[in-house]
Amino acid sequence: MRKLFVICLLLALNSAGCAQKSKSKPKNIILMVGDGMGTAQIYAGLTANKGKLNLERCTAVGFHKNQATDNYVTDSAAGATAFACGQKTYNGAIGVDASGKPIPTILEIAERNGLATGLVATCSITHATPASFISHQPSRALNEAIALDFLKTDIDVFIGGGRKYFSKRSDGINLNDSLIARGYQIANSIDEVQRITNGKLAAFLADEQQAKFSEGRGDELVKSTEVAIRLLKGNKKGMFMMIEGSQIDWGGHSNDTKYIVDEMVDFDNAIGKVLDFATADGNTLVIITADHETGGFSIIGGDMMTGTVEGKFTTEHHTGVMIPVFAFGPGSEQFSGIYQNTDIYKKMHEAFGFKDK
Ligand code: MG
Ligand code: ZN
Repeated sequence: MRKLFVICLLLALNSAGCAQKSKSKPKNIILMVGDGMGTAQIYAGLTANKGKLNLERCTAVGFHKNQATDNYVTDSAAGATAFACGQKTYNGAIGVDASGKPIPTILEIAERNGLATGLVATCSITHATPASFISHQPSRALNEAIALDFLKTDIDVFIGGGRKYFSKRSDGINLNDSLIARGYQIANSIDEVQRITNGKLAAFLADEQQAKFSEGRGDELVKSTEVAIRLLKGNKKGMFMMIEGSQIDWGGHSNDTKYIVDEMVDFDNAIGKVLDFATADGNTLVIITADHETGGFSIIGGDMMTGTVEGKFTTEHHTGVMIPVFAFGPGSEQFSGIYQNTDIYKKMHEAFGFKDK
């Protein structure tokens, strides 16, 4: 009797231990990248939004060091390849290491392990940040080759610009025919995207780059994020998705405070949708970061009541400063501290518990 009690107690303790362990292992990971989003960009958005952002709902904060192999100041290709593949590389590299060798991405490994996968961006889906999660090319300039690489994977959902690299190509091949043959629904507007309720989706919201938020794009990122979650969340093994606020970077390159603020607040609205889903789901790790800072942006004045921001810039290029990482959900505590951008890949890989590299 006593022996039985001890065994029961051990089993109970053991299962409690397992429950504890599985609690910190997320089923889903959603990585959100605000391109060019340093702390000043975030704080400008917070100020313009009258003192608050959805981003503040994150429970863990860290910083990453983002230097590339060939340059102290990284670009978006080397930066995203570090997140996607866990290796430092040269500026311009898409999913290849410093010697040009293709390296598997977290999205490809997730696919191999039966997870649903997605990419959402407010620029061409072949642009450096989304491309680095799905393509392997020596240069970010090879948009048509990057588009071809989408067909070498089994990605479930992608929404962005870049229609011409799929269906108006210089080689005359219409990749949409291959996408349709492989079961993708094609959408060419945000209204069409919103009508999709299940299955695979390839959505092209612009021939090349989408408009600015303030010049016609509006809340397409928020709507695309909602649809992508809807399409991916049903997978029993989980999902991996990367969502990019692509144009915060372009506001920095333009030294345009209003452009930065509009894009930052739009990205934060998408963050709100993702955190709402993660909160309700309870099994989703959300990581929000940037590849690098752009513009050497600073804030020299502002008003939280009126939402005005006075910005100042030191460059029209990227800068080399540390970049904040915000995390929410099971496993989020792993993202506190200061580490390399490549560690974001390693932490995601470990959080998923993948055995293969
Ligand atoms: Mg980008
Ligand atoms: Zn840039």
